[in-house]
Amino acid sequence: MSTETSKPYLRIATEEAFAPPEMLKIYNKILAGSDVDPGFKGLMGFYMSSPSERARHIMRCLQDLDQVRLGHMDEAGIDHQVIALTAPGVQIMDKDTAVSFSRVANDQLADAVKRHPTRFTGMIAVPVQDPQAAAKEIERGVTQLGMNSVIINSHTHGEYLSDTKFWDIFAAAEAHDTPIYLHPNSLPRNMIQSFQECGLDGAIYGFGVETGLHALRIITSGVFDRFPKLQMIIGHMGEALPFWSYRLDYMHQATVRSQRYESIKPLKKKPSDYLRENFYITNSGVAWEPAIKFTQSIVGVDRVLYAMDYPYQYAVDEVTAMDKMSMSAEDKKMFFQTNAQKVFKIKAV
Ligand code: MN
Repeated sequence: MSTETSKPYLRIATEEAFAPPEMLKIYNKILAGSDVDPGFKGLMGFYMSSPSERARHIMRCLQDLDQVRLGHMDEAGIDHQVIALTAPGVQIMDKDTAVSFSRVANDQLADAVKRHPTRFTGMIAVPVQDPQAAAKEIERGVTQLGMNSVIINSHTHGEYLSDTKFWDIFAAAEAHDTPIYLHPNSLPRNMIQSFQECGLDGAIYGFGVETGLHALRIITSGVFDRFPKLQMIIGHMGEALPFWSYRLDYMHQATVRSQRYESIKPLKKKPSDYLRENFYITNSGVAWEPAIKFTQSIVGVDRVLYAMDYPYQYAVDEVTAMDKMSMSAEDKKMFFQTNAQKVFKIKAV
């Protein structure tokens, strides 16, 4: 579909965001309430009200699933987008609203995929607040909407998926073979202050710290010993976890031996083994060859995927930079195209 004919692969971007206008209405109500979550207020509250060019560009692109988006994809040479409900999705809502609105959002995204089947693939948004309803929505997404992956925007009101009360979601994801993309959220109330007071709570650093922590909590809580076939996806070069692998492995074993924490239990494998066997990693927001190659060397070339992070990081020049990476043609095609086709079960491009 790209205007170029020379490149020997399709570019499939795998962490791309949308926001139905109806969701922004719900957000406006939440923002008008009392005791608004400080991370939500600082992030969506800002983007939804700022007159800055960046904020207006983001809000316009987020709400479009047709010509604006397709125009940008053509301009940047993106053949296909894997699209998810933008953070915090339904996870900032109360439980009932989250249950009903996740269905609305998923129906809208499925309709857009029907309109543009060779350009879009959708992820299933789930009401994490109600794990049984989330499990049902995964089933509906797979069997009725033709979607094959799940989006979860990190913590839900400060709660983490390492808590066994959420594990029905993992059971459903494993049973339906739907990988879960663990995407950043703004930081929870009990964590945000020391980041926000210096302006480092967002994508610059805080998101990576919190989402990396969440992924690590999922590993150390034993989720993958209980659900060995479950697959997760993390963006932003694995939120730095590949770089931490050696220390995580050494200190996990040392902490188990010391019996210092009830919550650090023996696992069947090393933390880095789960990264290698249960995680795919995208380069969203990190168009940087050394980090991409290092991550490939840790988790394997079959587990690292391309992503742009549209519209938050719509950077056309980054696409060209990624094309120029010094990497075998075979590995580059896996990075841009074939890994994504496998992970998200993309048939039409
Ligand atoms: Mn993103």
